Formats: sequence, C-alpha cells, structure tokens
Amino acid sequence: MKVVEIHCKSILTRTSGYLKTVSSHSLNPYVGCGFGRSACGEACYVRFNRWIMRGREWGRFVDIKINAAEVYSQTVEKEKKWARKTGGCFSIFFSSSTDPWQPVERKVRLTRQLLDAMQGVPPDRLILQTHSSTILDDLDKIQSLSEICDLRVHVSIEGDMGHLPGLPSPPCSLEERMGVLEKFVDRGVQTVACLSPLYPMKAPDVFFSRLAKMGVRAVVIDHFIQGDGTGDGSRTLKTKLPQAMAEVNPRSVDLSYRDRVARIARKYLPVGISASGFAGHYE
Ligand code: SF4
Repeated sequence: MKVVEIHCKSILTRTSGYLKTVSSHSLNPYVGCGFGRSACGEACYVRFNRWIMRGREWGRFVDIKINAAEVYSQTVEKEKKWARKTGGCFSIFFSSSTDPWQPVERKVRLTRQLLDAMQGVPPDRLILQTHSSTILDDLDKIQSLSEICDLRVHVSIEGDMGHLPGLPSPPCSLEERMGVLEKFVDRGVQTVACLSPLYPMKAPDVFFSRLAKMGVRAVVIDHFIQGDGTGDGSRTLKTKLPQAMAEVNPRSVDLSYRDRVARIARKYLPVGISASGFAGHYE
C-alpha cells in the first residue's frame, strides 16, 4: 500500500451527475481506499475513474489530503452561500469516492478533524457513508453534530450474506456493521442501511424485520444495474461480482430483483431506491 500526504486546494466538491440529486457537495478526505482489495472493492465504481486512478492499482494507494480540515474551514461559508443560492440546502455526502473510516483513518484522524471543523460551521445536512465499524470511534462527535444539523449515518450492508463465493472478505463483518446501526440508533442518530450494490439475499423478511426492530430509519436499495454510473451495469459486468451473485441466485443479476427485494422491505420499513434513496426520499 502506497500512502502519501498531499495538499488539496479545495475539499467541498460541487456535485454533478449521479450525486447531484443527493447533495450539493461531496467531501473526500482521501484519494483511494484501503478497502479496495476487499469484497466491496471488487466492483467499486471508483476503480473505473481514470482521474482518480492515474494508472494505479485500486486498493494499493491512499493519498491523504492532509490540510482537508483547514481548507474546509476556509471555504465552507462560500460553498454554503453558493448551495443556498442554487439549491436551497447546503448538504454534504461524506464520502462518495473513498471510505472516511478506512484503516489509515486510525493513524491520521483526518475524518475526525473534519468532524471537528464541522462543529464550528456545520452543513445543513450531512450524510456519512461507510463500510466500517471504525466509525464508532467517532460516535460521540457524530451524535453531537446530529444535534446541530440534519445528519444521517449510512452503513453499507449489501444484504444478509456476509460473503459471496469467489470474492474476498468484506472490510468489516455483517454483524459488526449491524452493530454500528444499533449503536447509532441507541444514541438517537438517524441511520440508514444501504444495500448497495444489492447482493442476493437468503432470507429478506428476517433481515428487514430485524432492521425495523432495531429502529433503523430506512433502507436504500441500489442494484449494480443503474447504480454503477452506467445505465446498463456495463462497468460491473466486467468484474467478478455478477458471477458471484449468479452462483447464489441467477435472478439477482437482473434489475427486477431489486424491485422484488424492495417490495419485501416495504413490509417492514421505509425504502429508498438508488440515488433518490441516498438523497433521503423513502416510500
Ligand atoms: S469501502 Fe467504499 S470506496 Fe472503499 S473500496 Fe469499498 S466501496 Fe469502494
């Protein structure tokens, strides 16, 4: 793993494309992801981004934007003004192309510095997205931020199977991620389980009923078709994920599987689909 420190000129990126309907800005403290060689990294859409990859191997590099918190504080008022003028709400998706609580975070605490900076000037809405139980290291800070802005913790849990055949292990076990949801719910923080990309499920009724009983606010269901940045899932089709899914359930590789699972989920709790779900629109 090649880890280097870099200085960034901006940290609040005005969103475009898929994210435009989700938030006014995205925030990525790192370039690259230390979870890139785990199960989620296999079909991670970021690995197809040439601008980020610059010829490097996904999961083998992390650039640390060492001055991220300082730049946040210097630019937040300007970006807030822009967001309110154009869209009405200054909202941050943290993060869209990396995991804020990936392994290097425990050493450098860049995400933590940003949470501290947000205590000074919070966004109107903050969406924290992670695959990792390391987010619990910042439980108190996040709870405190949730009292001054509209905050949701999104935990990526692709389904009720901890592991798919032929894929490496996930960054963090299924039970650990369920534990993250439970702890934030206990603290009164809004939590959302993101089945993104949706994996084949063994017992969806049991899974969604468990989430509902825990007090999770909603689930977001996002299939790799329509969810990987191409309309037809063509990026993901080049990876090992579709084959691994098909081995468990051949029907799970069709987009209609998403709708079948969503119908089951709606029996138990509010459901959002793809970008609209990430934006917080649930039915
Ligand atoms: S944790 Fe997120 S950014 Fe990192 S490899 Fe997995 S899906 Fe990609």
